[in-house]
Amino acid sequence: MRYIPLAFDLIDRPCLLVGGGPVATRKARLLRKAGARLVVVAPDITDELRELVRESGGQYYPEPYRTDFLDLGELVIAATSEESVNAIVSADARALRLPVNVVDSPELCTFTVPALVERGPLSIGISSGGAAPVLARSIRAQLEALLSPAVASMAEMAARTRDRVKEALPEPQRKDFWQWVFTGPVASKVESGKPEEGEAQLLEVLEKWAGSPEPTGEVYLVGGGPGDPDLLTFRALRLMQQADVVLYDRLVSKEVLELVRRDAERVYVGKKREFHSVPQDNINQLLVDLAREGKKVLRLKGGDPFIFGRGGEEIDRLADARIPFQVVPGITAASGCASYAGIPLTHRDHAQSVRFITGHLKEGELVLPWKELASPGQTLVFYMGLTGLDTICAQLAAHGLPAETPAALVEKGTTPEQRVVVGNLQTLPDLAREREVQAPALTIVGGVVSLHEKLQWFR
Ligand code: SAH
Repeated sequence: MRYIPLAFDLIDRPCLLVGGGPVATRKARLLRKAGARLVVVAPDITDELRELVRESGGQYYPEPYRTDFLDLGELVIAATSEESVNAIVSADARALRLPVNVVDSPELCTFTVPALVERGPLSIGISSGGAAPVLARSIRAQLEALLSPAVASMAEMAARTRDRVKEALPEPQRKDFWQWVFTGPVASKVESGKPEEGEAQLLEVLEKWAGSPEPTGEVYLVGGGPGDPDLLTFRALRLMQQADVVLYDRLVSKEVLELVRRDAERVYVGKKREFHSVPQDNINQLLVDLAREGKKVLRLKGGDPFIFGRGGEEIDRLADARIPFQVVPGITAASGCASYAGIPLTHRDHAQSVRFITGHLKEGELVLPWKELASPGQTLVFYMGLTGLDTICAQLAAHGLPAETPAALVEKGTTPEQRVVVGNLQTLPDLAREREVQAPALTIVGGVVSLHEKLQWFR
């Protein structure tokens, strides 16, 4: 480590800025954000800088730099276009042991300003000590994406309630309480744009904790998308990193699962041919039980939890048990597979609507409104349709769709193993057997499938 990022309290402290051009103005903006009083020395000054100086309660000296100006600041920034002036300011400031920064000249600096991520009262500095500013900025971009804007509201809420919490709870409960606030249902409320509700819950629970501490769990029903981890939402990723325990099933890809917090307990509840799956009712109960233990429970599902995901049943039970939960949508297999296979689900020339249908067999039979499905101008997407594929194709043809209607199977869509098999209603079932298509696979039927050849990605 070449530089240590220190957090400097500049509220109302005089800071000397030598230079009055755009670079100095940029620095002045930053110093003002931190509440500094600006003292500027420069023959000329931008209008914005003049205004910043004024509203900071500082002073502008329209003169060339002289050593005695250093008496006027506790921190010095040189931002003139004259290298020689910058060097003199740096040497003078060092002689007086004043912290000095010269813009873009790390060798003349005793401090540098790190790349900053700001969220209200929070600031995160990333410094590479001048070694790799672009790397620092790229890390900043990653942090920007990772930290929800709601972090600012969270910090502000903490500032508002801090004294009350301090009064009500001794350590170590206080620490646990804040931990709960920042990772539990209060944080979820703030994150979903309801800071007032979050704060109300904070105060309500604070009262309870002040009497007897009692853990409160929560369930996150999260759509993990069709496979490619890049298709997760930011909220999904955040909650995945907060979970104490995760219940996942077969459709959740290994790569997605790897992004769950390392220490979280992992419980597999999916089906595999040789194992019995955990019955839905037991999953519902398990979610309730784990949350009642005070855990943050992640129910991670493939695709979207509300599309053939039984998400509705799971939260129904949670609502009965009065357990806080939130649902995070995911990219459903139809969207993921269609995009990655170059098959637009709607298209002005081919389809004005799209239907998601489950091809799941009930007692060996597939009961669907075939006549409706066979009407033209729509795209049909069959989930879980591999075993019923013969029936699907035959019934659609029997009810009026031309046998040469294009149809495709997308196997393991969006993953590196994705395969697309294209045929029509007549040929697809045999093609699927020949190519040994495996689950998970999605069937897409309609004119849009004919676009695949031109629109598929070239990898
Ligand atoms: N909730 C999920 C769907 C669950 S039903 C979602 O929104 O995507 C399970 C069916 O989804 C599978 O049988 C298969 O038809 C389809 N499916 C899920 N992931 C898939 C993938 N990566 N590639 C192809 N089909 C997929």
